[in-house]
Amino acid sequence: MSDLILFWHRRDLRTSDNVGLAAARDQSQKVVGVFCLDPNLLERDDVAPARVTYMLGCLQALQARYAKAGSQLLILKTDPQRGISALAAALNASAVFWNLDVEPYSQTRDRSVQEALQQAGIPFKNFWDQLLHAPDEIRTGNGDPYTVYTPFWRNWSSKPKADPAPDLEKASGLTEKEQKTAQKAGAIDLPTAKDLGFTWDNSLLLEPGEAAAYDRLEAFCDRAIADYQEQRNFPFNAEGTSHLSAALKFGAIGVRTVWAKTAEVMEQARSDEAQDGIRVWRQELAWREFYQTVMYFFPELAEGAYRKPFQDFPWDNKSDYFKAWCDGKTGYPIVDAAMRQLNELGWMHNRCRMIVASFLTKDLIIDWRWGEKYFMQKLYDGDLSANNGGWQWSASSGMDPKPLRIFNPASQTKKFDSEADYIRTWLPELRSIDTEALVTGDILPLERDRCGYPAPIVDHNQQQKRFKALYQQQKEA
Ligand SMILES: Cc1cc2nc3c(=O)[nH]c(=O)nc-3n(C[C@H](O)[C@H](O)[C@H](O)COP(=O)(O)OP(=O)(O)OC[C@H]3O[C@@H](n4cnc5c(N)ncnc54)[C@H](O)[C@@H]3O)c2cc1C
Repeated sequence: MSDLILFWHRRDLRTSDNVGLAAARDQSQKVVGVFCLDPNLLERDDVAPARVTYMLGCLQALQARYAKAGSQLLILKTDPQRGISALAAALNASAVFWNLDVEPYSQTRDRSVQEALQQAGIPFKNFWDQLLHAPDEIRTGNGDPYTVYTPFWRNWSSKPKADPAPDLEKASGLTEKEQKTAQKAGAIDLPTAKDLGFTWDNSLLLEPGEAAAYDRLEAFCDRAIADYQEQRNFPFNAEGTSHLSAALKFGAIGVRTVWAKTAEVMEQARSDEAQDGIRVWRQELAWREFYQTVMYFFPELAEGAYRKPFQDFPWDNKSDYFKAWCDGKTGYPIVDAAMRQLNELGWMHNRCRMIVASFLTKDLIIDWRWGEKYFMQKLYDGDLSANNGGWQWSASSGMDPKPLRIFNPASQTKKFDSEADYIRTWLPELRSIDTEALVTGDILPLERDRCGYPAPIVDHNQQQKRFKALYQQQKEA
């Protein structure tokens, strides 16, 4: 057996602060990366072209990092169950290393890859990398997994955090002969999104790759994090949040690096306001870990509602309402502006994600899983755990102890887009309408006609009463 270790990248598309990769480099100088374009994932019907475009951009940047470190990143396009063990066997690798993931599919896939490696007699090692605390580390006093965020946060935030892992340096890669062997075992050139059948012509909110993610982290922590507690809620303020979600989803940045940066700015923070901003942003990182941890322990969340009354809820599921919601044509300006932002950018501000999710489920009375899927089809940061968690929270079907939260579009607009700047940005046809009408949604029918903007498809007050009645009926049943 050679001294080659194959490092299988999945959602850790970076060389710096990568726990499994650093362990591989520690064990051998000859570390070669591999990424498998998995048809089981790429052929699903909820893949967003923007997400694939971002991922491929990260892979391109990762290939450059490997080259700089003296090695290579190989690309396969096959079922990992066959591809990984076949490549490792062909290259006579001494071991395959990778970082673990929480998603149900990933766990099943990893088990079958492990079996294939075992059959081929190739050792493997796994690590936790994408979370600051592995799921098993954070448990209640009774040893159970948490199902509520606040006690999870208390426990999670009290634990010391690991330092970033060292970057890949002075590695050696495959010889020319071995590269030919890798090609015979399925290694290909990195395809474009179009080659894979995805078209995304708009720009991406964050440039792919670890350098861009790190620059974004620095820029956010140097300035905006101090005002985060207040500014994070205003969707018009493009600088109010970090825009790191896609980088965190694909691991273009290591979460220990992110935490270390918050510790650095916390030490320098002079005002209570700045310290609060950093604390609140850390709480968002903990939400990310909470949703991943519950997905790990309760994989059934991926299939449907956690709360009983929602498991067979009598949704209206009107397809014309759903289409209007998707297209941003419900007649509710804040909802429509947000959906147009999603369709255009492949990203939506968090406040608006909550508003449109509440609207879909409680005003249009449409199954939240339709919305969950549509988000996955569009979001460049689309992530099973965060998306499912966000939808179940908004639909009141999840673990959140406060069951019936209904957002009123007009009061949300009054609080968070009081000058209607966000609405005007995403609904250009309404730019001439006065602010008060845009905020309340009380736009005269004549004005709506003139602007080509639809009348409200439902009445919020009526629908929320109906929703509450249906919910009560379900609970009693
Ligand atoms: C219905 C719904 C669906 C969502 N779908 C996704 C999704 O598919 N992918 C995704 O990454 N986030 C999702 N979120 C959470 C949140 O909206 C985004 O993480 C956030 O808007 C990304 O912007 P940002 O990077 O500027 O966030 P910031 O405000 O800067 O937050 C920093 C990081 O913390 C994490 N984070 C923040 N809020 C949450 C949250 N509520 N849940 C989990 N992680 C969080 C993200 O990794 C984010 O990048 C969803 C929220 C809702 C209500």
